[in-house]
Amino acid sequence: MRILCFKIKPVYIIIAILLAAGIVVFASGEKPQNGTPVPILMYHQVSNKPSKLGEYVVSATELENDIKIVLDKGFTPMFASELLSCCQNKTPLPEKPVLITFDDNYMSDYVYVLPILKKYDVKANFSVVGALADLYSSGIDRHIDYAQCTWDEIREMKSSGLCEFLSHSYDMHNFSKRKGVLRTYAESHEDFLEILEDDIEKNKQAFEKNLGCEPIAFVYPFGSYNDEVGKIINSHFKMSFGVYEKPNYIKGDEKTLYLLHRYNMVHNRNIEKVLNEACF
Ligand SMILES: [Zn+2]
Repeated sequence: MRILCFKIKPVYIIIAILLAAGIVVFASGEKPQNGTPVPILMYHQVSNKPSKLGEYVVSATELENDIKIVLDKGFTPMFASELLSCCQNKTPLPEKPVLITFDDNYMSDYVYVLPILKKYDVKANFSVVGALADLYSSGIDRHIDYAQCTWDEIREMKSSGLCEFLSHSYDMHNFSKRKGVLRTYAESHEDFLEILEDDIEKNKQAFEKNLGCEPIAFVYPFGSYNDEVGKIINSHFKMSFGVYEKPNYIKGDEKTLYLLHRYNMVHNRNIEKVLNEACF
């Protein structure tokens, strides 16, 4: 009997191990079997001062380049309300949907972001802290390095047809009294419920008074979230945004619109990698 005998080179063994490991990693990934990937980009401030650029500040040039890439890759920027209505009415999402969001509604939204949106005819979503919009609408001194938009600026942005505004709390965007909208240890659930619902209502009223509409979504300040606050927010809004960096898969079900994941677009972040990861 002939015995088949051959030598396996060590390099082939290594390649086989790597291939097997790759298959295991792919199989344990979170890619679901259905649902449309909807990447959500999160920006904060825009500045043209190099010393300010960092985790929460990008330059206007960077932002413009990101938007060019979003469009070149065939993505369709949409409003949060459009995403909600697609889910409510069971209508199809646009080709390669993407949401571009700006937190805290810095004055730079009006000065730098709005002209870029107009130049490329791109829609974006802005989260407003009502108390800060009230403060900077009162005539107080402002500086682009730190101030927020006034209601006049917000109205002008809204009238462009390219900007939608979301609630970022009326006056709970701080870490001194509590972590964003979370309950403090000293509060009972009932006391906390009253405080949070009062704040939600105040921002709705501020939106009604200044923009003639209610905010359709809530953006958690600092992404601070737990089940207790989630239940309260979900009873007032049909859609909310967090800060976890993961893909979203929208399945035409409104329940998938709570605590949507977002990618923080820090200075010098490669947007192509972000879009690839978000559409995995
Ligand atoms: Zn914020």
